[in-house]
Order: sequence, then structure tokens, then C-alpha cells
Amino acid sequence: MPSVPALSGWAAQPECPQPRSTGQACGPSMGGLTGSAAWPQPRVLCIPAPPQKSRKGTGMAYLIVFHVIFVLFVWTYWKSVFTLPLQPDKKFHMSYADKERYENEERPEVQRQILVEIARKLPVYTRTGNGAIRFCDRCQLIKPDRCHHCSVCAMCVLKMDHHCPWVNNCVGFSNYKFFLLFLMYSLLYCMYIAATVFKYVIKYWTDELTNGRSKFHVLFLLFVALMFFLSLMFLFGYHCWLVSRNRSTLEAFSAPVFQNGPDKNGFNLGFVKNLQQVFGEEKKLWLLPICAALPGCPYTWRRKGDVPLLPGAARSGASPQPRIPLPRWSSRAGLKCLDAASGP
Ligand SMILES: [Zn+2]
Ligand SMILES: [Zn+2]
Repeated sequence: MPSVPALSGWAAQPECPQPRSTGQACGPSMGGLTGSAAWPQPRVLCIPAPPQKSRKGTGMAYLIVFHVIFVLFVWTYWKSVFTLPLQPDKKFHMSYADKERYENEERPEVQRQILVEIARKLPVYTRTGNGAIRFCDRCQLIKPDRCHHCSVCAMCVLKMDHHCPWVNNCVGFSNYKFFLLFLMYSLLYCMYIAATVFKYVIKYWTDELTNGRSKFHVLFLLFVALMFFLSLMFLFGYHCWLVSRNRSTLEAFSAPVFQNGPDKNGFNLGFVKNLQQVFGEEKKLWLLPICAALPGCPYTWRRKGDVPLLPGAARSGASPQPRIPLPRWSSRAGLKCLDAASGP
């Protein structure tokens, strides 16, 4: 199998450079929302009931399930927020000499040719709508496939999906799994709250319970849980559809352009492989916000053709799905690309 060294290089980002003003407002509101549900819910589940053993046991079971979901919800949210987006490897950046040559050239067609020459050494398969090499003039790099510049983070992000103000982070290659799990556990959290308080709403409605303060908690919980459940349901459903077709949100709006033109299914490898590209190959880890399963999962490659756009990037006898070593990373506090650019 031919090696694909160029894409095996991923740059670590030691610190998050972007301003976080948008999410600074969302963080507390999200925390407040979580707390507003997390505090009254156990109280609601312990609403005064006749001291029967069976009811006590049921209440305890409710509380245990509630806290398991709550921990997963907070854990995935934390990982979505504090996992740094990954930038392209250094080899995608222009060298000093190339940069000087590019900037001193005033003729656009010659500039394009310079980019083509640089990109010959790189495994880039997608182009702009007019057939040019995808180049970020702010980061001064050739964009790898599926990489986009985020104006909020002020950097190019690998497999960028979108910049999410709710997690105050770019959702992309490094944290897309965590983001999806966050949506899923948020849904589950809201659904569980709504389901467990609903019978108490009925009891208040029929005057079986008379505690006025608990009545407010119950109604508030039901309202907030249903409101968020409905809005998250559509978002989660949309992302499930995207994952099943191996598309990012940006690619859903604008199909990636290949040698033969735009192809919205250019990265579609089939349902199972598409899932593996996001969740990893270890199925037992799919529902946990850890990324141990991700290394080795190719994500940029097409199923169809697999023909390089540029003659210099040709890979004779290439397998349709070469395996690309991917980085292992930790949290925002110490994100390290342990493996990434270790290739030649
Ligand atoms: Zn950029
Ligand atoms: Zn961003």
C-alpha cells in the first residue's frame, strides 16, 4: 500500500488563539440551564410520597439513571468546548521563498501557477469552484481537502463543520464526535426529564398534589425540557443525516469540487465506514466521548475514482482507501499531536 505521508502530518495547536467572546456569553447561560434542570430534578423525583419501599426504590432508580445521563451530558459538552480544532500540518504552509515569489508576482495567472507547483507535492484533491488550488491567504497555506478557514477562530480548521457559539468552538475533525454525542445526550437528558416529571404535572392538574413550590419546579422543568428537546431533535437529526453521507455542514451547502467537477458524495464511503470516520473503528467506544478509536481512520478519501487532481500527487497503484495515521490528542489544557507529523 502506498504511503500517504502528506496527510499523516497534523499540526498541534498549543493554545487557542481565538477570542472567545461569543461563547463567553453562552457558557454561563448553558451552565445556568443545566443547573436549573439538574437542581430541581432530583427534588422532583423525591416529591413527597407515602413511605412505601417500592416507591423509594423507584425514586432511587430514577435518580441513578438521571445522574448517569447528566454526567455524560456534561462530559460531552466539556469535550466539545475544550477540544482544540486541528490546523493543517506545516507542510501545507508556504515556505518563505514560495511566499516571497507569490507575493512579488502581480499576474494572477502566474500566481495560480505557483500554487499549482507547490500543491504538486501535496495530496490535495479538491479545488475551488473555478478549478484553482484552494489557498488561504490569511494563513498562507494550501488548504487540505475538507479544510476551511474559520473567521471567528482566525485559522484554518481540518474538516471544519461549523463554528458553534453554543460550545464556543469550531466543530471539526478533532471534536465532531464529541459534538454529536453532546447533541445525543442533551436530547436524552431533556427526554428523561420530560418523561419523569410529566406524571407529576398530571397530578398537580388533578389536584392530587398540593405543594405550590414543587408545582413551579415541575412546570418549569417540563417546559424547558420540551422546548430544548424539540429544537435539538431537528439539529441532531440533520447531523445524523450528514454523518450517514460523510458530509460536513459546509459541504452540504456547497459540494466539494474535484477533478471532474462538484461531487456532493465525493467523500461518501458507505454507511458503516462513514460512521467509523466520525466515531472510530472500536464500536464499544462509540458512545463515549473519548477519541482512542480515531487514529487510523481515514477521513479525506473518496470512494469513487481516487484520482489525484495534480499530476505530481499521483499515487500509482493507490488503494481506494489508504489508511492515514491520525493524531491522538488530549484536552484543551494540553493538546498534543503525538503522532501526527512524525512521518517524513
Ligand atoms: Zn486560513
Ligand atoms: Zn471557529
